[in-house]
Amino acid sequence: MTLSVAVIGAGPSGFYTAEALLKRGLDCQIDILEGLPTPYGLIRAGVAPDHQSTKRVTRAYERTARHEQVAYFGNVEIGRDISLDELRANYDAVVLAIGAPLDRGLDIPGGDKRGVHGAAAFVGWYNGHPDFRDLVPDLNCDAVAIIGNGNVALDVARVLVKTPREMAKTDMPDYAAAAIHGAPIRDVHLLGRRGPVEAKWTNVELREMGELEDCRVVLDPDQLPDRVAGKWSARDRRLREKNLETLRGFLGQPPDGKHKRLHFAFYAKPVEVLGGDRVTGLRLERTRVEDGRVVDTGETFDLACGLVVAAIGYRAQPIAGVPYDECRGIVSNRQGRVAPGLYVVGWAKRGPSGVIGSNKPDADLIASHVAADLAPQGEGAGEGTGDGKPGRAGLQALLAERHVAWVSFADWLAIEAAEIAAAPAGAPRQKLIRIKDMLAVLGKSAGQRRTG
Ligand SMILES: Cc1cc2nc3c(=O)[nH]c(=O)nc-3n(C[C@H](O)[C@H](O)[C@H](O)COP(=O)(O)OP(=O)(O)OC[C@H]3O[C@@H](n4cnc5c(N)ncnc54)[C@H](O)[C@@H]3O)c2cc1C
Repeated sequence: MTLSVAVIGAGPSGFYTAEALLKRGLDCQIDILEGLPTPYGLIRAGVAPDHQSTKRVTRAYERTARHEQVAYFGNVEIGRDISLDELRANYDAVVLAIGAPLDRGLDIPGGDKRGVHGAAAFVGWYNGHPDFRDLVPDLNCDAVAIIGNGNVALDVARVLVKTPREMAKTDMPDYAAAAIHGAPIRDVHLLGRRGPVEAKWTNVELREMGELEDCRVVLDPDQLPDRVAGKWSARDRRLREKNLETLRGFLGQPPDGKHKRLHFAFYAKPVEVLGGDRVTGLRLERTRVEDGRVVDTGETFDLACGLVVAAIGYRAQPIAGVPYDECRGIVSNRQGRVAPGLYVVGWAKRGPSGVIGSNKPDADLIASHVAADLAPQGEGAGEGTGDGKPGRAGLQALLAERHVAWVSFADWLAIEAAEIAAAPAGAPRQKLIRIKDMLAVLGKSAGQRRTG
């Protein structure tokens, strides 16, 4: 009997799960359900618009989506259109590949002032995620503070300081380009509680900061240690040594008449957002690092800024009936198992860590669980032992009954073709942002359900 598998979420972990199941040669039907009409999760809405080559990984996902055993159901949100229980009643296995889309809040006094944004929201805004189209951050300031020492913080900083020419061949939406390039921003401060050795950047991303057309790097040489102290694996030590070398290289760069400055500031922990209704600055406490731990010193200083972006982590969206680890912000799981027939992969499983490829081993693991749990004798032999749940036919019946305007993969390709056709010269696409505009390409209406 053919095994039915529903994968919730069409980001990297969802596609890698489908691919891993196919590779096992199981007799299965795989349906990928995605809340947005558009697939690819954070590849479309997270990875920076000026990193188009990274986004090309979607070509492999496209091949998976076109496989005869796979079907895509976009614009179908679990919890809104269909409940998880209904899905589990229809499929032998359900895999949660829902990512970690929520910002970890900046939990300090003033953290809720106007002008303070989480990176998920801010990046979603400049990357055209429908949920954040109406964020409209006020960029009318000359200094911005970005909290966090990972690649997401670097992305936000880079996008804010790149020139229109540097961003011309990207798919950043018009509204974000107009707001960013029209803003008087001159200084962007990247703030880390720890030192440069502990920072989580990859070296390629860090090096880019020294190659900007109209922005130079500023940092205090006294904050750069001579060597990488502490216990690190050989690989991590090499990466950190490289990063230190890159930072040292920034010190020697001439200003070259550049108008903008990117300040790296380490050992600085935000303790309060300053201002009235709106942010006017950040109060920071100096720290030091002992045995990898942050130690407060009690000494504070203030930094003037009109915008704060907190890139301090992400957490998964809790789903009714699914155990949730509040502390880690993930779906509670044991090696990807959540409950019989229910699994979790990717950022929802392990939190926001690693690069796109880091989601592959998770997917392989879940495919092996599905094979072991549901097709014990059939692995590789094409003899699944699903217990006769309706699978795709059941899903389609529910969608029809509820008049859900779902989007097939062919529909998505039509949306994508419209985006590519509308692209300004040199740009890869002009993203459609509103869901109603995406559906209009297909001659469908969002009805009363979703207007984003
Ligand atoms: C700002 C940013 C930049 C990044 N840049 C890079 C980079 O340059 N290089 C790199 O290697 N990695 C990068 N990453 C990391 C990479 O994007 C992640 O590793 C990867 O996207 C995680 O995959 P995922 O499938 O777990 O989650 P996601 O990519 O978030 O996909 C989850 C999907 O599930 C859908 N979904 C959620 N809930 C539901 C529901 N209830 N019903 C239906 N669908 C649902 C979402 O809409 C989404 O499409 C970046 C991450 C961020 C945040």
